[in-house]
Amino acid sequence: MIDTSPAVDGEPSLLAVFAHPDDESLATGGLLALAAARGMRVSVLCLTRGGLGLPGDPQLTRIGDARVAELQSAASVLGIEDVCVLDYRNGFLSWADRASILDDVQAAIRRVAATVVVTFDEDGLYWHPDHIVVHECVTAAVMAMEATAPALYYVTLPRGRMRAAVMAAAAQAVTRGEILESERVLGVEADAFGLFANAPTLRLDVSAVADRKLAALRCHQSQIAGDALDRLPPNAVIDVLGLETYRRAGVGANGRTLMDELGQAIETT
Ligand SMILES: [Zn+2]
Repeated sequence: MIDTSPAVDGEPSLLAVFAHPDDESLATGGLLALAAARGMRVSVLCLTRGGLGLPGDPQLTRIGDARVAELQSAASVLGIEDVCVLDYRNGFLSWADRASILDDVQAAIRRVAATVVVTFDEDGLYWHPDHIVVHECVTAAVMAMEATAPALYYVTLPRGRMRAAVMAAAAQAVTRGEILESERVLGVEADAFGLFANAPTLRLDVSAVADRKLAALRCHQSQIAGDALDRLPPNAVIDVLGLETYRRAGVGANGRTLMDELGQAIETT
């Protein structure tokens, strides 16, 4: 499963580092699909298998296996072959060995010769503690690489998009005489996504691949079955998923990157 072939030095190579299966599709599904479609090397490093429970519990193993399989399906929908999943404990990254996470992130960066790394911003999409640890560890890992560091970008969700998903799914349900059973998205209060996020520096129009992004999200059925994204009507897909926003980190390589090629800078005043 893990592609160990070395990347050609200097070619654009995008590495997305996240905490759980489903983060990659929700946060960066459009970017990953667009970069892969352009023939760029695209890789995902996921720090946990996504199972909740005590280590050694057979149910934990089963859920983890199912979520990793969902991630692999989502990756292939997005056009990505290189997916690496580590076995840090889901929900417990705050107590994980940070030096070990830094080593793993740096090893992944070197293995794929990443020119751009993407991960969570300080808000962890919706203040999820595991996500915030990943943000901190990836930032530290890149900073420690000094002259050999790739460029680093943080992803934030545009505020209000998940509320729009809930509204659209609920409206469609009403026309069918049904109700939307949960107003949560991936188990999270819809308004929490993007709340108090840092201002982005780059916008990426992913409307051309929004359907593919949704299809990737729907591979994560253990997480989204029945929720607003699972029941999103086709006419709301671009509005909800067609824009991604990124912020260039203060650490990592400077200069123009594949992100400038794909997105548009946001003027800050
Ligand atoms: Zn997550």
